[in-house]
Amino acid sequence: MRCIHILIQGIVQGVGFRPFLHRLAQTHQIHGWVRNTSGGLEGILEGENDALKCFLLELETSPPPLSSIEKIDTFPIKNSFGYTEFTIRESHIDTGSTLVSPDIGICPECASELFTPSNRRYRYPFINCTNCGPRYTIIKALPYDRKRTVMEAFPMCENCQKEYHNIHDRRYHAQPDCCSICGPQAFYFSNDSVSKTADDPFSASQKLLSMGGILAIKGIGGFHLACDARNVDAVTRLRQRKHRSSKPLAIMCRSLEVVHRICNITQTEEQLLLSPARPIVLLSKREKNKLSHLSFSSRLGVMLPYTPLHMLLMDQTYGGPDTLIMTSANISECPVILDNIEAVTKLGEIADGFLLHNRVIQNRCDDSLLMEWEGRAYYFRKSRGYAPYPLLFNQNVDGIFAMGAEQKASFALGRDFHVFFSPHIGDMKNAETFSHYKETVETYQKLFCLKPSLYVCDLHPDYLSTQEAIHAAKELNVPLIQVQHHWAHMASCMADNSLSSSCFGIIWDGTGLGTDGTIWGGEFLIGDYQTFSRIGSIRPIQLPGADKAIQEIGRIALSLIHDAGVTDPSVVPLDSDKCSLLIKLLSPTLSPKASSIGRLFDGVCALILQKSYADYEGEGAARIESLSPVETPDSLTQPLQKLSYPLHFYMENKMRIFDTRPMIFDICRDLKCNISANHIALRFMVTLCCMALNQCLFLNQKKLPVVLSGGVFQNRFLLSGITKLLRDNGFTVYTHKQVSTNDEGICFGQLAIAQKKKPQ
Ligand code: ZN
Ligand code: ZN
Ligand code: FE
Repeated sequence: MRCIHILIQGIVQGVGFRPFLHRLAQTHQIHGWVRNTSGGLEGILEGENDALKCFLLELETSPPPLSSIEKIDTFPIKNSFGYTEFTIRESHIDTGSTLVSPDIGICPECASELFTPSNRRYRYPFINCTNCGPRYTIIKALPYDRKRTVMEAFPMCENCQKEYHNIHDRRYHAQPDCCSICGPQAFYFSNDSVSKTADDPFSASQKLLSMGGILAIKGIGGFHLACDARNVDAVTRLRQRKHRSSKPLAIMCRSLEVVHRICNITQTEEQLLLSPARPIVLLSKREKNKLSHLSFSSRLGVMLPYTPLHMLLMDQTYGGPDTLIMTSANISECPVILDNIEAVTKLGEIADGFLLHNRVIQNRCDDSLLMEWEGRAYYFRKSRGYAPYPLLFNQNVDGIFAMGAEQKASFALGRDFHVFFSPHIGDMKNAETFSHYKETVETYQKLFCLKPSLYVCDLHPDYLSTQEAIHAAKELNVPLIQVQHHWAHMASCMADNSLSSSCFGIIWDGTGLGTDGTIWGGEFLIGDYQTFSRIGSIRPIQLPGADKAIQEIGRIALSLIHDAGVTDPSVVPLDSDKCSLLIKLLSPTLSPKASSIGRLFDGVCALILQKSYADYEGEGAARIESLSPVETPDSLTQPLQKLSYPLHFYMENKMRIFDTRPMIFDICRDLKCNISANHIALRFMVTLCCMALNQCLFLNQKKLPVVLSGGVFQNRFLLSGITKLLRDNGFTVYTHKQVSTNDEGICFGQLAIAQKKKPQ
């Protein structure tokens, strides 16, 4: 006989771990007990030496599918306790802290029960088990137990209790377990004030959708607005009411078969669609120019139903639509709406009906967005299904609070070797988003027992995240480090790939404050986590009217052609009066300068599409990408260099600058010669790829590892084009793997730099 004390750390709560241990103990005739602690799981195990060995081996090699063991510690105990059975004890709260599982998409067993008439949870929209269901969005405090979740409001009925306590049941100790007798209820609320309620909320919802109505849906981490994706009028109405005229909209398809009908999907994309996180996956449309009311691009954001509520909403029984628009129900860039009353008030003008329920959303969490690249997930937004699962870092980052940037605001908080990333927060330009940001920091601090010992933020004094970091550091009397935006991007990609020595960074994005007070965004950097230098860039673009030029991209086009010496203003989508007015603004003192690839995309988009306004930031780059006749340069038959516009560089302040003027001049000439917009868009992107290679050949002769980061690398053409060109020329290229390439990933770079620069 042997007796041990065991401690297990990792994602081991809310994923069926204790029942798994119970079954394992029965198999190997182990006695003793286990319990959840705020540090994970602990227990006392007694049994024959060989039996204990087998128990531990099986624990290590085949733990429950949703769990993730980080560490198992065992300590021998001299005297045996003489236990005669194996039990699960009440959770024990101490000062340590454990990890919280993200929300998990409905599992196949629950999905099958949902549609089995004899099952007692037949068509019950909140069915879940230890393998699936809400987690982060319902949790109030740790350890993860029903009484510390919003399910506290729903005392279990006798049947549910029985399952909860039955070790052989799939719902043994499933904290959100419930049924139609004891659990939350869904209901339908119509906006026409005649029919306030309906007997079956799902048939009422489908009826509304079939008639082209707009439905607001309370989901797992927030509200969505939905309408029939095949009904062009309905989609147009939704766009008008939501003031979202051209931004691509994501869809939810009833099944994988429906997805196949609309898009071409690879096996990896299929796996990503079906993965427990159930993210939105960017897929290629079967017919590039179809479904343009959903997205002007050849790609479409698609997800599958991820909760029983969504499955019922899309169920065939009532003949409702099999493809729905599913867009976050945020009003003018405010965070996703949480509460029923708030939703009915705020969305009254947009939605015709509401599918609601009475389970509280404790923590908001938006849908995640990614694409497949090089056989893996490449993130644009990492949120539901991933947050708050931490990354394990190779350095101790305890107490480092990295506060992120402004667009796609996010934060990363360190504890020991763990980095806790925030869910998606949004563009932090208003008070609502800022308070959501602060609340989420608080939630994380409380859940994971995080204590700041160092703050790190962006250099930009106007970012609310910077102001919050300065304020908090002062209040708590802890040090503060400010990190230049593009260096943080670079460090983020380095840390994402566990690179520790000097790298060469190609960092392209829309906007970031440089150390010289100008706006950067087309940068070539050399550096590590301690220091960096800027050795290459692009010719700065003057922005007449500063921020106004970000929306009115025709202004950037004018600035570009004026700089390039094109005398004919008819290529610019602005009337001549406005042109002469704006040209007066083009002096160094009146207009800020930006060496930004994002702005260059905007200006070129305005030129080739004769489009003077962008509906959202980044539209220029997305439009040009979608204009290109090929998705990636791999499909081109001729070498890229032959398609490129001429490349010219000059030296200034010890930097090698790409001169945009000859390229802009040639683009204007092509426009005048009626060369197609598609061809010009392609040549423009090819030029950027060749420019990146040329800079790398000149500036990175030591062949340091190259990292690609910044929002521009959401552009699939540039991402694959530059990666391929550099690799063909003998460079090692790294791209983002676990965090987003856009500003959402900035906090990771800030954290990695702060770890090295930390005052000792
Ligand atoms: Zn399940
Ligand atoms: Zn029940
Ligand atoms: Fe950025």
